[in-house]
Amino acid sequence: MSDFVQHVPQGDVHVLRLNNPPVNTLRTEIRAGLLAGVNAAKAQGAKAVVLIGAGRMFCAGAEMTEFGKPRQPPSLTEVFDAIEGFPGIVVAAIHGSALGGGLELALACHARVAVAGAQVGLPEVKRGFVPGAGGTQRLPRMIGPEAAAKIIVSGDPIKATEAHKLGVIDAIIEGDLEAGAVAWAKTNIGKTFTLARNRTDKISGQDPAAYDAVVAGLLKRTRGQESPKGCAEAVRASFTMPFEQGLQKERDLFSTLVAGEQSKALRHIFFGEREVLRIPGMPEDAKSLPVERLVVIGGGTMGGGIAMSAANNGVPVTIVEMSEEALQKGLARCHANWERTVSSGRLSQAEYEKRKALLTGSTDFEGTVAKADLVIEAVFENMEVKKQVFARLDKAARPGVVLASNTSTLSIDEIASATSRPELVVGMHFFSPANVMRLLENVRGAKSSWTTIATATEFGKRIGKLPVLVGNCDGFVGNRMTGKRTPQVEKLLLEGCLPQDIDKVMEGYGMAMGPLATGDLAGLDIGAAVRKARGTVAPVADAVVALGRFGQKTGKGWYMYDEKRNRLPDPEVERIILEVAEKMQVRRRKISDEEILDRLLLPMVNEGARILEEGVAYRPIDIDVIFINGFGWPAFRGGPMFWADTQGLKTVRDKLARYAEATNDANLKPTALIEKLAAEGGTFAGMGR
Ligand code: NAD
Repeated sequence: MSDFVQHVPQGDVHVLRLNNPPVNTLRTEIRAGLLAGVNAAKAQGAKAVVLIGAGRMFCAGAEMTEFGKPRQPPSLTEVFDAIEGFPGIVVAAIHGSALGGGLELALACHARVAVAGAQVGLPEVKRGFVPGAGGTQRLPRMIGPEAAAKIIVSGDPIKATEAHKLGVIDAIIEGDLEAGAVAWAKTNIGKTFTLARNRTDKISGQDPAAYDAVVAGLLKRTRGQESPKGCAEAVRASFTMPFEQGLQKERDLFSTLVAGEQSKALRHIFFGEREVLRIPGMPEDAKSLPVERLVVIGGGTMGGGIAMSAANNGVPVTIVEMSEEALQKGLARCHANWERTVSSGRLSQAEYEKRKALLTGSTDFEGTVAKADLVIEAVFENMEVKKQVFARLDKAARPGVVLASNTSTLSIDEIASATSRPELVVGMHFFSPANVMRLLENVRGAKSSWTTIATATEFGKRIGKLPVLVGNCDGFVGNRMTGKRTPQVEKLLLEGCLPQDIDKVMEGYGMAMGPLATGDLAGLDIGAAVRKARGTVAPVADAVVALGRFGQKTGKGWYMYDEKRNRLPDPEVERIILEVAEKMQVRRRKISDEEILDRLLLPMVNEGARILEEGVAYRPIDIDVIFINGFGWPAFRGGPMFWADTQGLKTVRDKLARYAEATNDANLKPTALIEKLAAEGGTFAGMGR
């Protein structure tokens, strides 16, 4: 018997323990071990088998690193056939998670028990494919096609207690799971359990039109992603086809989707989000400092959001403000935000009270900072102000405490120079709204120590963020790259586009929101102030702002808005654009969707390459992960650098060169890195491999 599946007979009940840490993925050895284990239990006359996971969970599903390689037997189907053909009962005992193939394994069993804190789900849709081992056929037979579609199309896990109510889980076990599951199996030996594949009670009489209506609602928010549609189609087969045919349909959809570009992109990001946490050059023994209390300086938009993230994750946090009035305003904003979540039913009153108690405020700068284990500064974006604050922090904080800045544009090195501890200064660049957005760009200063970087990384993870380490430069990675897109938006408007043409293309690509609608949300006056400070102009945007059109907050910007905040194209904006174009003698023409997309994405890719040349980002994947988690970029497109690879870097180079000339924009001249990779026939993904 392999070490991967431990076989422990306990009288009539045989326990098979999946043992492939950390998450018991169903790699070849596990599948083989399960098949051998079930067959051995049968040969030894066992009346029941309990499948359980060793370590922290039952099973996280298929081993995705085996995808795309020649398949090694046995298949999961063979394992499931053995389970379903077992002469007694096979019971899955679930703790932690049963996800994807892990849940499908459990669904093939005669029964399932779980601890109350476990969760189950079929997240395949999020990796760009459909469950491929019967999940789309067995789950509907247990809980009905509409309920199954909700779980499978969203990919979101549900709690074991909810799964119990739905009928996926037969019993919730208290106390030790293995002992409880063995006892449960013993009492149920001899009872009849109808296998999911043989059940018809939940699928007969399903009205296809009612199913399609439910699915249409579920698919509304999935934009251009293919896998949710595939999931819905597979589940539909559960009530329109016999079981075996449904399985075949599911397998066909799986094979097509898994080989597609979208699934490759989603898996690129799935693995990438793990890879970015492995920081090149970080010594093995670099240790993060313990943080018992966070202090946030400034309780405005960002400070409040950062403090909420800490409290949401159980970390005591104090906001320091300049005046009692500003402090109360800041705290009230956090409370109101939580209260909205309570009213919407997404947060319990008890949890709200807990979070509220963790969040305190003070106007005593020195006294509060003296008690901090970590300080994150989020005051106004002004170098003089920041330097003053850091000089004061340096004096007030205990020696050895890390001082972080949430600046979005200023130099971390210059901020650090105001202290006597530059090695303990780091950027922690959160994104707005900071209590929601997962991305955290941690900015490494020239003198930041590994301990400091490890502390920013670990603390970011602890408060629910995805930290990506970047270098110190204007705008860091994300904002620096999107900054290169803005001039092209202005040019496209002049040359022939209207705001809705540009947003339609970007949203069609899968962006949460197009750049002009985003501008209206953030406020067009912000960009105007930046342009003023930098002495740059954007004739169209400036003309829009000059009319007091600042965006949603003034009721109109690039669009006009109705009372429900629906955006509508505005003839006045069209008139402004035409006027400016005429004044500047730009002849307007019809611009294709392809050109719009290229001219918005290629400048970002080019800047991304420059960022790699400079070492501001360690790897292309860091850039892709930043865009997926902080800029509304659709995960199924894999991020800007992945997109560039799919276009082919030779094409990228040629198009950049063409647009650099046509639009007279030196920024678009292909960087040396792109020239080199294009000449070699290389890709970003292949760099350093
Ligand atoms: P904000 O104006 O909403 O908040 C700043 C707060 O800091 C104010 O409440 C102010 O009273 C307080 N403050 C100023 N000086 C202080 C001092 N000496 N001691 C204590 N409190 C002080 O600004 P914001 O949007 O929250 O931005 C804060 C920082 O975050 C800036 O550096 C900004 O660049 C950065 N940032 C902002 C965003 C965003 O989208 N707003 C995103 C990322 C980063």
